[in-house]
Amino acid sequence: MLDKRGWGRRYWLPLLYRRMMRLGGLGPVVTFTFDDFPRTAYTVGGAILKECGAAGTFYTAFALMNSSNYAGEQFCLDDLHSLVADGHELASHTLHHVSSRTVSTPEFVEEVIRGRSAMQSVPGLVVSDNFAYPFGAVSASAKRAVGRAMRSCRSIYQGVNGPAVDLNLLRANPLYGGIERMSAVRDLVRRTEEQRGWLIFYTHDVQTRHSPYGCTPALLESAVTMAVESSMRILTVRDVVAQKEARGSSGEAQGG
Ligand SMILES: [Zn+2]
Repeated sequence: MLDKRGWGRRYWLPLLYRRMMRLGGLGPVVTFTFDDFPRTAYTVGGAILKECGAAGTFYTAFALMNSSNYAGEQFCLDDLHSLVADGHELASHTLHHVSSRTVSTPEFVEEVIRGRSAMQSVPGLVVSDNFAYPFGAVSASAKRAVGRAMRSCRSIYQGVNGPAVDLNLLRANPLYGGIERMSAVRDLVRRTEEQRGWLIFYTHDVQTRHSPYGCTPALLESAVTMAVESSMRILTVRDVVAQKEARGSSGEAQGG
């Protein structure tokens, strides 16, 4: 539950320190992202995407490697190599899964950079410059500082991105629970198509007995199938940003 300050932040944070990118003709597009990440995100979730010829974005907190938590076993090094080989995107999520609201901003930026560097130092791993905030916790000063250090920063502010996208605060929607959540997915897909926008989902573990922050294989499979059958393309965050950059930066503007 959000406190009074949380509600205030929800209103003003999207307005501050923005780095706008116009989607132009790129949409409608959808991205499936996985945070932290539990092994099943890759072994089950990654496989579902691969089966459809698609790829996902894995926001990885490198220090969680070989550990275990509420969502089950976390990734191992082989998973990172395999997911890169499969064409998925390896992206950043700080080194130790730290909240930007529990440390100073310089310490937080250091965590972000160290997380990316730790993965970059492993031979064979290709790491993008895209980032997601652990716990979805974003402070104004972190938004400003990390926005300068990374190509994009994903939040858990909900909604559909576009036609103007704030690269410093990408909106994303939880893909949690089971198949009963498909009506909400359907609504988001419809909105994204109408708006020719960019829809981003996030989840953690993908297993039948999922954690409160994960989903069933059936829900992910249905959402991916719906995306395939829609007018949307399934792209990673890396590919959306790269395709946009390849088309030229017209329409980009600084704001806030
Ligand atoms: Zn996380």
